[in-house]
Amino acid sequence: MSETRRDFLSNTVAAFALPSAPGIPWYRRSYRWGQTNITEKDPERYDIPWWREYWKRTQVQGVIINAGGIIAYYPSKFPLHHRAEFLGGRDLYGELAQAAHQDGLVVLARMDSNRAAEDFYRAHPGWFARDASGSPFRAADRYVTCVSSPYYDEYLPGILREIIERTRPEGITDNSWSGLGRDSICYCDNCAKKFSDKTGQPLPRRHNWDDPVYRQWIQWNYARRLEIWDLNNRTTKAAGGPDCLWIGMNSGSIANQCRSFRDYKEICQRAEIIMLDHQSRSDPSGFQHNGDTGKLIHGLLGWDKLIPESMAMYQAGRNAFRLASKPEPEARMWMIEGFAGGIQPWWHHVGAYHEDRRMFRTAEPVCRWHKANEAYLINRRPLATVGVVWSQQNTDFYGRDDAAELVELPYRGWMQALIRARIPYLPVHAGHIDRDAPNFAALILPNVAALSDAQCAALRRFLQRGGALLATGVTSLYNEWGERRPDFALADLFGAHAKGSNLGSVKWAAGSFHTYLRLAPELRASVLRGFDDTDILPFGGMLEALPTDSGAVVPLTFIPPFPVYPPETAWMREPKTNIPGLVLKGRVAYMPADIDRRFGRDNLPDHGNLLANLVRWAAGDNIPLKLEGRGLIDCHLYRQPGRLILHLVNLTSAGTWRAPIDELIPVGPLRVKIKLPEDVPGQRLQLLVSGAKTPCAVEQGWAAFELKSVLDHELVVVT
Ligand SMILES: [Zn+2]
Repeated sequence: MSETRRDFLSNTVAAFALPSAPGIPWYRRSYRWGQTNITEKDPERYDIPWWREYWKRTQVQGVIINAGGIIAYYPSKFPLHHRAEFLGGRDLYGELAQAAHQDGLVVLARMDSNRAAEDFYRAHPGWFARDASGSPFRAADRYVTCVSSPYYDEYLPGILREIIERTRPEGITDNSWSGLGRDSICYCDNCAKKFSDKTGQPLPRRHNWDDPVYRQWIQWNYARRLEIWDLNNRTTKAAGGPDCLWIGMNSGSIANQCRSFRDYKEICQRAEIIMLDHQSRSDPSGFQHNGDTGKLIHGLLGWDKLIPESMAMYQAGRNAFRLASKPEPEARMWMIEGFAGGIQPWWHHVGAYHEDRRMFRTAEPVCRWHKANEAYLINRRPLATVGVVWSQQNTDFYGRDDAAELVELPYRGWMQALIRARIPYLPVHAGHIDRDAPNFAALILPNVAALSDAQCAALRRFLQRGGALLATGVTSLYNEWGERRPDFALADLFGAHAKGSNLGSVKWAAGSFHTYLRLAPELRASVLRGFDDTDILPFGGMLEALPTDSGAVVPLTFIPPFPVYPPETAWMREPKTNIPGLVLKGRVAYMPADIDRRFGRDNLPDHGNLLANLVRWAAGDNIPLKLEGRGLIDCHLYRQPGRLILHLVNLTSAGTWRAPIDELIPVGPLRVKIKLPEDVPGQRLQLLVSGAKTPCAVEQGWAAFELKSVLDHELVVVT
């Protein structure tokens, strides 16, 4: 916003006026966000003019300001709404909301509404979650509120209305809105009655995924969170107008969403914007997880909507330091990977006063770059011909209490293999296969065990229309409730049949064994390309004999375990078996061997190369990008009318697999080829990070060019 425009707003418009942009609601035009999470001490030391200047420097268009919930930062009329210890008589939230509105910024009032102090508990003991013995669930010195109680139906709506009436925020966002997680069962009177009314059953006595009542309890909990979402939105819209949204924050981890009963697909169907609370990387999944998360959520939400993400400027990780700066390259790379996946920046500081001032240098240059190039970072369509299928139902009802091993690792293995091979891909929800199928040449099913009959039918239609399938592990062996079928639902497509008591077991999934796979020499030209000088590959998993159909081709067979130690004993007892590790039939590759899980865990290049070979075998000539040159580079390809956008993120560093990084290491030269759509002639190239000039050649419908050097990322626009 220009200075003139800012002055105009602050001088002539009432303090609570919305920033004006006719026709476009705030949730479609606020691309950069900031949040100073207010501590109880801050009312004594919050330097509002300093932060206003920081808002300006970082180009934010919206701010998230703590209002209420566990701690209130304004003088609430609700006596039990616990005021911040050092608030005094101040209305800190109100002052900040007013300042932000005067600066033309969108305000989201932040709530945190899952627990309350002892006085609240004593006043309303029936509003709190209780264990089987009737004792309240506690978190430190506070009491956990129950989602089935009037706390959510009556008390919180009153708080939302009060906040909106006082300050007219554009919306309200809640950090912790979904109540008690899956690990605890609430036995309060409200839950007992509501569950019984709904199902005719008493609450389940324990966690037991094989108990249909427990599974009903899971579904009932998901439904209750959606009721809360809808109720809160009705409340905020009634109080603040149709664009006054209530937005619960969501996680970037599907397993977390499951444990919190947040149905991402349903939430995205009713959300105009997702406020993503996914602040930093973990070692096993890397920065690239942020790009993957953005694409996954856009797949549910649509690519025309926004996904701002809370990005920690403090040291978040194995050991969190709320008051220490995260190394600038670590914070920057997380932000950039988010942009590449369609996520918008939202810097996050905990506390309004800091002695480690280095944290204030991180967001500004990244946000300025984001503003300068925002036209290429939003409202774009991904171009990928490979889809990786996932579902929350698979994480819940197959993954159960072992989703990390059974569901997340196989997915991560494929993700890493695709990134390493520079093959653009998109996550595809199992409920969107028919909708998304026309975009894809191949679909990957990473041990997607729990598939409904309808989802299996959609996969069959995809294959009948000329697509290819890559399935691993026990894909389709279970129905949507995690009940085992007599055989794979897709057995005829796989050319293999489920047999064996250990098939898909956690015991095998979690273990590491001294096993190998033997290569069939006649297939070295296709799926076994690049393995000319070896007859075996390291494996690490376990396999049982699976019957295969006639006509099925078996490129890999299992070599059972033999001793590792002492070395004198490390010789194969059974060098050859007929136990299949990989089965090819038509355009379907079925891999009983859990190479995807192994690659996700062990990072062996042979495993990554084998997975990449399979994708190339399945997708054929339909991969729109070729990139040559050294380094681990995450490639995101998009299109807008008349142009292609290639976002390359350089993940090559000394800290690629161990956070934090403190040094960026450039890669290059990179030779790039992109298949041109009809409306992109490929005559002009812009490099929007380096600003370098480089010629673009068009060869048989492909744009070809070279990037001399990429430090953190490069955004290439081809027109
Ligand atoms: Zn309850």
